[in-house]
Amino acid sequence: MASGLDRVAALADETLTAGPAFSLPPLPYAYDALEPHIDKMTMEIHYSKHHQAYVNNLNKACDENKINATLEELMKNISKYPVAVRNNGGGHWNHSFFWQLMNAPKGASNLPSGKIADALNAAFGSFDAFQKQFNEAAMKRFGSGWAWLVKTPEGKLVIASTPNQDNPLMDIAEVKGMPVMGVDVWEHAYYLKYQNKRADYVNAWWNVLNWEAVAKNL
Ligand code: MN
Repeated sequence: MASGLDRVAALADETLTAGPAFSLPPLPYAYDALEPHIDKMTMEIHYSKHHQAYVNNLNKACDENKINATLEELMKNISKYPVAVRNNGGGHWNHSFFWQLMNAPKGASNLPSGKIADALNAAFGSFDAFQKQFNEAAMKRFGSGWAWLVKTPEGKLVIASTPNQDNPLMDIAEVKGMPVMGVDVWEHAYYLKYQNKRADYVNAWWNVLNWEAVAKNL
């Protein structure tokens, strides 16, 4: 029979060998904060079920494969890791990034200002041209994935799209760089409210885009 001290030792041992433990970051607003554009039930399931599952499965994959690295290190070297790390590590990074990019709708027009507005005008000619190209990337992504605004290593702003939970930080990405903003176009992000109408979801999403957060990523 194990003594109390044995149990304490076993617990300490378990802690030391548990591997990296990624965790769900707090959601910066209530589930209903993005209504009516993104509904409460979608947010609750998206965050507490989908994102949580990416975190759990990433921890499991890292544990099973004895991987001990930061999320950023995983992304940068993703071609060297098992596909479960790519899918779930990408899922964890992408959703952690995505929650920060949204906030409660502010009113009729939610447009960028200051340096982010200047940067978009310089890169795309106008805000409308940028928005059109970004929407196209979101609409043309076949199946599940993401559309991104990316800052390339050369400092250029470009629009890209990735399949599944891939992202521009990954060494396997077609367009590599630092994500400035991105939109989740998996059906789980919109199906409860918008069903098959991805365009309606993407159009509504611009109302909850947090331009201050986008500007910080620039
Ligand atoms: Mn998602």
